[in-house]
Amino acid sequence: MIPLELLARVSAAAFVFALIALWEVLAPRRPWSVGRRPRWPHNLGIAIIDALALRILIPTAAVGAALFAAGNGWGLFHSLNLRLSLASLLGFLALDLAIYAQHVAFHKVPLLWRLHRMHHADLDIDVTTGVRFHPFEILISMLIKIAVVLALGIAPIAVFVFEVVLNATSMFNHANVSMPSWLDRALRLIVVTPDMHRVHHSIFARETDSNFGFNLPWWDRLFGTYRAAPEAGQLGMTIGLPSFRDRGELRLDRLLTQPFRGDVADQPRKRPGEKLGS
Ligand SMILES: [Zn+2]
Ligand SMILES: [Zn+2]
Repeated sequence: MIPLELLARVSAAAFVFALIALWEVLAPRRPWSVGRRPRWPHNLGIAIIDALALRILIPTAAVGAALFAAGNGWGLFHSLNLRLSLASLLGFLALDLAIYAQHVAFHKVPLLWRLHRMHHADLDIDVTTGVRFHPFEILISMLIKIAVVLALGIAPIAVFVFEVVLNATSMFNHANVSMPSWLDRALRLIVVTPDMHRVHHSIFARETDSNFGFNLPWWDRLFGTYRAAPEAGQLGMTIGLPSFRDRGELRLDRLLTQPFRGDVADQPRKRPGEKLGS
């Protein structure tokens, strides 16, 4: 029998994916560089591998850790005797801050960047880029989440809601969708929008090293990493990395082996305006 929790996660993800994919067809923001066909089977393939790797290697996952913490009275929130609603809200915020900090670390630490750069090497950015992460990054991310959950004693319901919301916002903020600028400005007050996160996928380093948030947009404002727009404009900017521009690099097997190839210094270029390499 399929557990209810898994069914809820998969249905929520499938519903949000379908909605955004439809929006991308009806109102795309940018013209394609390579399009859907060379990317979708491979980006979706990596998402399936990620889900299987998690279920096999860390089957209890973050919700399991939260159930353990609740059952044994572990974590800061338990010792403070906070009300469930307040503890859940604080837990949600703490998890989001942890994901922001983790994302910064994945850019700054060369070995972690090797894993994370696969996400940045996509030559277009759309709903499937939001699930295109190397399985090792997904596993490390889960261990970090579990550590935060155990240290704070975050309630299982808060962890579940956070994971479902983060999955949905990751697909949303990678979407190739257009919306009126007033709506983007309004949404940016509470959630990372596609125009905000797209800056992070710029080929230029100082733009890549901005807008690290995946869900709440506040951490970038608070820690000075917010950038409103790319210098070349949303339509003129180049997506991806200077290395890995070959279409063959979009294939599933190349995605999996990418961290073990190339120079660790394969960073985006430093100066906007510089011509692209090969
Ligand atoms: Zn990144
Ligand atoms: Zn991204």
